[in-house]
Amino acid sequence: MTELISVTGLRKSFGDLAVLRGIDFTVDEGTVTAVIGPSGSGKTTLLRSLNALDVPDAGVIRVADVTVDFSGPVSGADTAAYRSQSGFVFQNHNLFPHKTVLQNVIEGPVVVQRRPAAEATADARDLLASVGLADRLDAYPSQLSGGQQQRVGIVRALALRPKVLLLDEPTSALDPELVGGVLAVIKDLAAQGWTMVVVTHEIMFARKVADQILFVDDGLIAERGTPAEVIDAPSNDRTAQFLRRLS
Ligand code: ADP
Repeated sequence: MTELISVTGLRKSFGDLAVLRGIDFTVDEGTVTAVIGPSGSGKTTLLRSLNALDVPDAGVIRVADVTVDFSGPVSGADTAAYRSQSGFVFQNHNLFPHKTVLQNVIEGPVVVQRRPAAEATADARDLLASVGLADRLDAYPSQLSGGQQQRVGIVRALALRPKVLLLDEPTSALDPELVGGVLAVIKDLAAQGWTMVVVTHEIMFARKVADQILFVDDGLIAERGTPAEVIDAPSNDRTAQFLRRLS
């Protein structure tokens, strides 16, 4: 398998708080990695670092063919090239409320990537149809359910044609009855071969869909392996304790 992401020695502090304390892992192309662990352990910061939404203090991260060493000076051009390799799906989707579904999706491709509007629109229509939103192109976010809004959030990230999709607790802001629909979309993207890294509390979903699980505890990866290894037979006490608390 081709390695798409490699992270070595990733560190990040906010003031005196050391949130990531030396993170190493790799992600193969076409696989799903689920990041699990206690609240406040650094999962979101880890994910945001992969898109330079949080800028690491140290460490080398390669995403596809862009490598950045955050221990040294990093130029704006480096950050832009690095960021363009991944698409980020926020917990609260962050849609523009005054733009329609279609306008939300084509904004990035047209304004940031300078792709022709007609091409971006055709692409957006296809992607929105693939998540069951073909008939909601002209709706505003407030006219959609939370689950539909999050599906637009996913499509908006996909429309930038990233090499990897990063999803930060994509279902945790949803009413319980809407969670399944969004997880089904993510599962479908996995089946299509999208490389994804997803921070999630949905352990059963992670067990079913992920190829690799990272258990993050106190700024370190305490355990890394397949779902069968990490979820069914954890070798680390902290992982076992965390999983017991969820069940
Ligand atoms: P998790 O996703 O595992 O819940 P986070 O990565 O969101 O953990 O946060 C880890 C720690 O870093 C928490 O203590 C959080 O309060 C802190 N933190 C996260 N982002 C910031 C920030 N921008 N400024 C200050 N502290 C932050």
